[in-house]
Amino acid sequence: MASEFLKSLEKGVFMVPVCTSCGKKAWPPSARCPSCLSKTRFAKVATAGTLVEFAASHVRGREGTFGIVEMDGFRLVGSIGDAKLREGMKVKMSKCGVGPDGTPYYHFEPVE
Ligand SMILES: [Zn+2]
Repeated sequence: MASEFLKSLEKGVFMVPVCTSCGKKAWPPSARCPSCLSKTRFAKVATAGTLVEFAASHVRGREGTFGIVEMDGFRLVGSIGDAKLREGMKVKMSKCGVGPDGTPYYHFEPVE
């Protein structure tokens, strides 16, 4: 299930397993619903969220601004485009993928 998640992410498509019974999102991606244990299937979900907090990173190769984004039912950590950021603002995923080291990355841009 996790590899299926990465496969779509590699193509720049953000899909999340959604429970076929209760409709909850399984996050982190899982073949079974975390609350009712029914099967999940991949579905495209809304990629808009709310910026919970953010900080600048000065780590070599990972410079930029990173934030925690509250999505509908789960949270993601991603980079955020340069703008006047503030906590609680609406952001939208503009890019996603898998880095050379195999870890997923997400990039958000402010909506407002
Ligand atoms: Zn469920």
